[in-house]
Amino acid sequence: MTFKDLGLIDPILKALADKGYTHPTPIQQQAIPVLLKGKDLLGSAQTGTGKTAAFTIPILQQIYNKVGSGKGSRKLKALIITPTRELAIQIDDNINEYGKYTGIKSTVIFGGVKQASQVTAMRKGVDILTATPGRLLDLVKQGFISLKDIEYLVLDEADQMLDMGFIHDIKKVLKLVPHDRQSLFFSATMPKAIVDLSKLILGDFEKVSIAPEKPTAERVDQAVYFVSKKSKAKLLKHLIETEKPETALVFSRTKHGANKIVKILDKAGINSAAIHGNKSQAARQKALGAFKDGKTQVLVATDIAARGIDVSELEMVIQYDLPNVPETYVHRIGRTGRAKASGVALGFCAEDERPYLKDIEKLIKQNIHVVTEHPFLIDGPDDPSEQQDQRPPRNNGNRNNNKRSRGNANRNRNNGPKKRTAGNPKKRFNSKPKSQ
Ligand code: AMP
Repeated sequence: MTFKDLGLIDPILKALADKGYTHPTPIQQQAIPVLLKGKDLLGSAQTGTGKTAAFTIPILQQIYNKVGSGKGSRKLKALIITPTRELAIQIDDNINEYGKYTGIKSTVIFGGVKQASQVTAMRKGVDILTATPGRLLDLVKQGFISLKDIEYLVLDEADQMLDMGFIHDIKKVLKLVPHDRQSLFFSATMPKAIVDLSKLILGDFEKVSIAPEKPTAERVDQAVYFVSKKSKAKLLKHLIETEKPETALVFSRTKHGANKIVKILDKAGINSAAIHGNKSQAARQKALGAFKDGKTQVLVATDIAARGIDVSELEMVIQYDLPNVPETYVHRIGRTGRAKASGVALGFCAEDERPYLKDIEKLIKQNIHVVTEHPFLIDGPDDPSEQQDQRPPRNNGNRNNNKRSRGNANRNRNNGPKKRTAGNPKKRFNSKPKSQ
């Protein structure tokens, strides 16, 4: 199936051809026809599936078909709400690209920057607005934005929005938009709270669900390092120096932690930058741009700032701190191995993070391979008397020896990290499905 088969209009087909996109991704194949019919949509899909084009293209096409090439009144017709500034900018960039021959105007607004240029852009008149919830409501309150003519409402990354506490803002927005509209609701995960929220937003909807071709956790080579908190920085430096990834995204739990990591890497002559909520928007964009262009080798980010980072060939993800919410682990490793590429995801696990690791393994139904040959290993049996018994046999390069189904390592994995050996990182960081 090609984009032409989906009945897209020429200005959009031309823009897609400029980007070199000929064939719709599965979510685009499923969602575009539903949306062009005007139906509401519940999309269960992660980033990396092509979902942005799946919802922006039908909105562009419907607006174009109604008002033509910019000749209609420039009322705000479509509102896309998204949790982070980075994601908002990325969506607006996509709208500009796919809509460049339609004459449709769009803009993006988000907090953390002065509002003046955003207000000016709104005053000039836009058809499609992508916004983060806080700044949106601010500008509505000040009378710079009216939502009374909204015909298309998109809630993107709804699960993240809920995690970030935007539920009340979203409910406020729902009171301001017309009841008679087309609503689109996207979420990577669908826990009950998300299903409940979707009911508030959607009318008669169709559901489109796209699992990545292989679940992320299977596509990405993963490994975990048992390491004390105080040795994590040394281990990171060691890994960057020995594995030499062209690009590595490092997740830090806190903003302060992210800054500290960058300082240490800087000292070691490793080109790195941090992005997090305390950085100005300009600084975040600059850091992201340099990382995408390959000028910065290591980007250190908090979860919120990393949401929406779209680097097509991200080689390595390092979780400097393991997350206490296991789904976050999956989101993080999904930053590598995007589309069909495979990637490497490494986690640092301190003593007090062992329970998080257990939760993660339960969620992904895999035991994550434990790297034992590194200079900062904590051997860490909870009960030292068990140590001899629980340690796995040394392995001399046969990665099958690492398999949980063999040797003493199987008895109690957390008490005895398994050995691993050198080789190609893409090959050797290997996990195997849980057998139970
Ligand atoms: P998304 O899931 O929207 O973040 O998209 C993931 C990546 O796939 C982005 O870099 C898009 O530009 C790209 N993409 C979207 N649709 C297509 C397509 N039909 N063919 C090739 N690449 C695409």
